[in-house]
Amino acid sequence: MKLYDCSRRLNPQMPVFPGNKPPVLKWLRNMKDGGKNNLSALELGSHTGTHADAPFHFIAEGKTLDDLPLDTFVGPCRVAALLDVPVVTQAALETLRPRNGEILLLKTKNSLEEQLRPFHADYVGLDIGAGRYLARCGVKTIGVDYLSVEDQSPDVVHQAILGAGIGILEGLYLKDVPEGDYFLCAAPLKVDGAEGAPCRAILVDFQA
Ligand SMILES: [Zn+2]
Repeated sequence: MKLYDCSRRLNPQMPVFPGNKPPVLKWLRNMKDGGKNNLSALELGSHTGTHADAPFHFIAEGKTLDDLPLDTFVGPCRVAALLDVPVVTQAALETLRPRNGEILLLKTKNSLEEQLRPFHADYVGLDIGAGRYLARCGVKTIGVDYLSVEDQSPDVVHQAILGAGIGILEGLYLKDVPEGDYFLCAAPLKVDGAEGAPCRAILVDFQA
């Protein structure tokens, strides 16, 4: 069995999507200052690093994360590569033949950055045609390897995907993961009423 850690590191220097609060580990108690133990509090935006989006992120009456079935982010999945596209379009997705009910993780050139650069707008994301196509295919969950699923479209891709009830994983890191079938464990924190939450994304290859 081989495990792949597909999560980005959380630290104050990491890039975040504009508007999202970067992570801070605040020390409430510190042994080097005489405290009886080390005790911290973590502050961060809900869409920091590797994380899940629930429909409520863009759909006013949509489900929150605690309302989504656990198998939205845990279960059999497929990693498919689109390493040479600047934008994920319907035509690019058609080559992968997305399947009804599957968890599909897209490996693009975003994953080639071992350390994400400061936020940049030239990341690879899905355009609106790709978002609507995924909804028609009926995939259960789509995973992407940058901090947003969509290209520079103003929110319509999130709306198309989340409006179809599809779960989203963002900020995956897939550089070392070959294309193929895996078991995904990427359950987000069980935060009541949340529209998003960080997760530790792990892929399991039981055949290795
Ligand atoms: Zn998000």
